Amino acid sequence: MKTIIRILALLLCVLPAALGQGLPDLGDVSQSDMSPQMERRLGESIMREIRADPTYSDDAEVTDYLNTLGYKLVAASADSRQEFNFFLITDPQVNAFAMPGGFVGINSGLILTAQSESELAGVVSHEVAHVTQRHMARMLAQQKQSTVTSLAALAVAVLAARANPQISQAAIAAAGASSVQSALNYTRDHEREADRVGFQVLDKAGFDAQAMALFFERMQRATRFYETNAPAYLRTHPLTYERIADMQSRAHGLPYRQVPDSLDFQLMRAKIKAAQDKPEDALAFFEESLGERKYLSEAASRYGLVSALIRTKAYARAGRELQTLRKALPDSAAVDALTGRYYTASGDIGAASQTYRDALKSHPGYRALVYDYAEVLLRSRQAGEALKLVESRLQYSVSDYRMYELQAKCYAALGRRLAQHRALAESYYRVGNVKTAIEQLLLAQKSGDGDFYQQSSVDARLRELRSLEEETRRESRK
Ligand SMILES: [Zn+2]
Repeated sequence: MKTIIRILALLLCVLPAALGQGLPDLGDVSQSDMSPQMERRLGESIMREIRADPTYSDDAEVTDYLNTLGYKLVAASADSRQEFNFFLITDPQVNAFAMPGGFVGINSGLILTAQSESELAGVVSHEVAHVTQRHMARMLAQQKQSTVTSLAALAVAVLAARANPQISQAAIAAAGASSVQSALNYTRDHEREADRVGFQVLDKAGFDAQAMALFFERMQRATRFYETNAPAYLRTHPLTYERIADMQSRAHGLPYRQVPDSLDFQLMRAKIKAAQDKPEDALAFFEESLGERKYLSEAASRYGLVSALIRTKAYARAGRELQTLRKALPDSAAVDALTGRYYTASGDIGAASQTYRDALKSHPGYRALVYDYAEVLLRSRQAGEALKLVESRLQYSVSDYRMYELQAKCYAALGRRLAQHRALAESYYRVGNVKTAIEQLLLAQKSGDGDFYQQSSVDARLRELRSLEEETRRESRK
């Protein structure tokens, strides 16, 4: 299953490929540049595939951290109006990839390999630059008439790879896509431009701009040991001596700037490490880190230790370490969320609920607290309370598809079928899946419950989405 992400990283880094059944009609792309709306729709259609892949992680805390970091960079870039979504891929390979529409995937391996937040930001700013410089749209425009056919062939190849990784190469060859594949890798010019623009963005956003060259040098040194099996990042973004030399000379003129890592960077790294390794390995890692004082942040290492202890079900010790951690970081939403998870895992639902209620007073916008509390309420058969919580948050986060998913779960638990399908429709709509949203609204119509007003509201929404779908279809034909 990792294969699909690897192929995506390899091929779709630049390619607005349309995957799956919902292959959008690209129209005659040779005639015109792609509109930002078209790019976004293509990105969304690829995201539908990625979200279904087991390596995709929707961990709210890491996702929110990555988006905070990413948007800090976007705000420092020339095109700050472009919409972006940064997301985590659980894959030990050092890689990151940008897709049309501003979707940027960041591998856990990259986050763990980066030795400072500025190093991580350096790679992310390079990806942001690929998007803002519209490298994908520009390359697509060069693909001439064969593009739509080639895209379809590639989509088939990638879907085949998903079912059976062994045949992926064969399928790509059978699709006659080898010429396309060679056209899909970023060109040297694109790499150079993403480096240059990414560097400016990194510097302007207040990170240590030297970190970019440092990180790439370290990767290049590591590559010698990899031989044929170069890290994925280097295969999708060929690294040359020239690129490194450019980075070094750019960094050369800058005054030295020490930029401390954010606490969230440290905590989220510990979270990923504790979740990704085998429980006993993670436990040993954080025990050693604390025992030998080998850490960048003691609190983050203890956070990792508690996470690992929860995984190994050593609840008594986890509880003691958690108290120490809470004293060190009394006002951390991430530590509150960890505390809630600890009580939930150890079976103390009452203490978990109390933790979430208190924490939400200080950190009402912290998504992980809302999701986890709602799940705890649902599990303890308090669907009505869970619904109240979700609906109070939906007023402020109208674009959060997971909040609608939770709302649907609450309605399902309450046996309200019309409302359940209506909420699911809104969830699908938020991820750009209008077709499935319409199907859910049709199910809502047939549900046989709900009063007159709810039914008319479903009818109105259905008309709205149908005309949106029609509009999209017309636009694609232009
Ligand atoms: Zn690149």
